[in-house]
Amino acid sequence: MPSLPLLLPLLLPLLLCPAGSHGFPAASGTPEQDVEIVKKYLEHYYELKNDGDQIARQKSKSPVVEKLKQMQEFFGLKVTGKPDAETLNVMKQPRCGVPDVAQFAVTAGQPRWERTNLTYRIENYTPDLPRADVDRAMEKAFQLWSNASPLRFTKLYEGQADIMISFVWGDHRDNSPFDGPGGNLAHAFQPGPNIGGDVHFDEDEGWTNDFRDYNLYRVAAHELGHSFGLSHSTDIGALMYPNYVFSGDVQLSQDDINGIQAIYGASPNSDQPAAPQTPQPCDRKLTFDAITTIRGEVMFLKDRFYMRINSQYPEVELNFISVFWPHLPNGLQAAYEVASRDEIRFFKGSKYWAVQGQDALRGYPKDIYTSFGFPKTVKNIDAAVSEEDTGKTYFFVANKYWRYDEYKRSMDVGYPKMIAHDFPGIGNKVDAVFKKDGFFYFFHGRRQYKFDPKTKRILTLLKADSWFNCGKN
Ligand code: ZN
Ligand code: CA
Repeated sequence: MPSLPLLLPLLLPLLLCPAGSHGFPAASGTPEQDVEIVKKYLEHYYELKNDGDQIARQKSKSPVVEKLKQMQEFFGLKVTGKPDAETLNVMKQPRCGVPDVAQFAVTAGQPRWERTNLTYRIENYTPDLPRADVDRAMEKAFQLWSNASPLRFTKLYEGQADIMISFVWGDHRDNSPFDGPGGNLAHAFQPGPNIGGDVHFDEDEGWTNDFRDYNLYRVAAHELGHSFGLSHSTDIGALMYPNYVFSGDVQLSQDDINGIQAIYGASPNSDQPAAPQTPQPCDRKLTFDAITTIRGEVMFLKDRFYMRINSQYPEVELNFISVFWPHLPNGLQAAYEVASRDEIRFFKGSKYWAVQGQDALRGYPKDIYTSFGFPKTVKNIDAAVSEEDTGKTYFFVANKYWRYDEYKRSMDVGYPKMIAHDFPGIGNKVDAVFKKDGFFYFFHGRRQYKFDPKTKRILTLLKADSWFNCGKN
C-alpha cells in the first residue's frame, strides 16, 4: 500500500501509511510471521496447495514463487516472486474472502441466475448498527446493481430466499471460516441453489454506516457482485476490487457495469447510472485536473484518483485520493505545494483545503476570496504553482493569472495579467501546472510545455503522459 514520501528531516517521524489501509498492521512482523502470512494468503486466495514446506524450499520454479508472481501481477506490483515489503503490505490489507483466482462456488464454469427476479432475506442482524441501518445498507447495495442491469429484487422476511444474508463468525460450517477482526471481512457464493448467492459478513468486524471501518454498504455492494456471478477485478476503482477501499461514496464503476451487463445484458432503465471510469495513466486521451509536487515527488490528480511514480510500482501508482486525504472532495481543480511550510493546498470552486503530509489542517475548507483576495468574479482556479525561492504563487484562471506572495500573504499589485503575455506559447488555458528543478510544466489537454520562467520561453513540447513510462503510444 502506498505511503507518502517522508523527506523533510524536521518532520516528526509520522507513519505515513495511507488512511485507506484502515489500521491494517503496518508494522512488519517477524520473518516467521511473514512467511505464515504469505503462505496463508496464497493458499486462500491463489489456490496454493497446502502441502507443508513449500516456502522453505524457495526454488525459482516453486509453486509459491509462481503464485506470488500471480498475486503481484493482479495487484500491479513489481513481479519479483519474492515477498517484499510492498507485497506483504497488500497481503495485510482487509479484503473480501473470495479468492482472486479459482472458482469459489459450488458450481464450476460461469454461473448465472436464470431468472432476473431474485429474492433476498436478511437472516440475522449485527449488533453494531440499528436494524434499520442494516436494512438500508442492503437495500442500497441491491439498488446499485439493479440500476445497471435487468436484475430485480424482492425482500423476504421468512423462508428460503435466493440470497440469504447473515452475520457469522469463525467457522460457520461452509469450509471458509472467518478469521477474527480484520483480514477477511466477508464472502459470497456464486449463483446457484442452496448456499449459492448467499452473503456472509464476519461478525468479528465492527460494521458502520460511515467512514469508519468497515462500511457495511460498501462491503455489501461488493459481495453482491459475487452473488450475481462476478469475480474480482484488478481495477482499483471498481467495487469488485478485492481489497477494502472506501472513498466516501459507493458507486459502480464502468468496469462493474461491464461485468454485470456481460452476464445479464443491458439495463432496461432509461436512466442509466453515471459510471466513473478509472483513469488509465497511458490512455492517449487522459488529461489532468491538477498536479502538485509533494515532498520531492509529483502527484497527478484526476477525478477520485491520484497517479504518481513510485519505485515499488513498475508503471504508475494509481489510487484513490481519499487513501491519503479522506476529507477532500472529488474533482479537485488545482493544487500546489508550499515547500517551506510542507503544506499542500487543494482547490475546488471557491474553496480550498490544506494538508501537511497525510494530516488535514484544521479550519478548512476556507474560501479563496478572504484568504487570497480574489475578486468574486473568480469562481474557480484552473491551476496553481508556487516558487519556493521567491515565495510567489501563480494562480491561473481562464486566460489570466494572479501572483500571490506567500510571505506577505497578499496578492501582488498589478494582477491579473494575461497568460499569453508572460507565458508565451502555452495557450490561453491551463489544466494543471507544477514546478520541478527550476522549470514550470504546464498541461493543457494532451499537451505539456516545459517552460523556463527565467527566459520566459518554452523549452520542450511534451506529451501529457511523459512522466509515466508509457513507451511509444
Ligand atoms: Zn470479493
Ligand atoms: Ca475478519
